[in-house]
Amino acid sequence: MSLRIGVDIDGVLADFRTAFHATAQRCLNRDVTGVNDPKSSEQLDDRDVRRVWDFIARTTNWWMDLQPYEQDQIARLYDLTRAARWEVIFVTNRPPSAGDSVQFQTQWWLERQGFYLPAVLTVPGSRGELANALRLDVLIDDLLRNCVDVVTGSAAKALLMLRDEDDTMRQHAMNRGIGVVPTLAQALPVLEHLHEEMPKRRGRLLRLADWFKPAQNANHTLPHNPRLTQPLPERTRPQLPTPHHPTARREETQG
Ligand SMILES: [Mg+2]
Repeated sequence: MSLRIGVDIDGVLADFRTAFHATAQRCLNRDVTGVNDPKSSEQLDDRDVRRVWDFIARTTNWWMDLQPYEQDQIARLYDLTRAARWEVIFVTNRPPSAGDSVQFQTQWWLERQGFYLPAVLTVPGSRGELANALRLDVLIDDLLRNCVDVVTGSAAKALLMLRDEDDTMRQHAMNRGIGVVPTLAQALPVLEHLHEEMPKRRGRLLRLADWFKPAQNANHTLPHNPRLTQPLPERTRPQLPTPHHPTARREETQG
């Protein structure tokens, strides 16, 4: 049986945060630098958040203009899906905007990133119930509560897309049997591994260690740049002496 995969859109494939931030700036007509998570509305008060969502609701096909995080990986997900005969269902609870339906806007956007004929479901509510109804094997989502919902309310596995470094959240997720990846590029090998393991173990309990093998460089405790708070000073390139031109040398000796 082929793998059935649910994929959330915002925060996993599409950079909703930056688009919301830019829209807030435009519609509130002031600097909103520091808005970290628009959905949690930490920096904007409720009234501002409502104004931004109203603005989005009036904007024609707002959801079509979002930037992808990793366009090449969306295309790669499509290639893998075709090759491995996976069934991928994109799930989102995006509110409507003017223009086409949210479903159409999302399908159009996915095709533009290289995933053709995408199945898109626009459903609010419990991700656990959804995973059950769709008989999903795994759901990729950027919200921990959705992942917890899936592992507690269904037999599906959950993969948390944690794009920001957050060791506490990562540990919380792992303790609940949820895999954690920082990028789509690192989620795809996990799906490939799950694809190999599932048929061998169907009907048996699949623990996190059985199906989730994080990439070697996904260790958040060892950041690539050890001086994140203190960037290394700019270094100037050492000036190398100009090599002697052989012709010039010949002319010198001849002269
Ligand atoms: Mg999301």
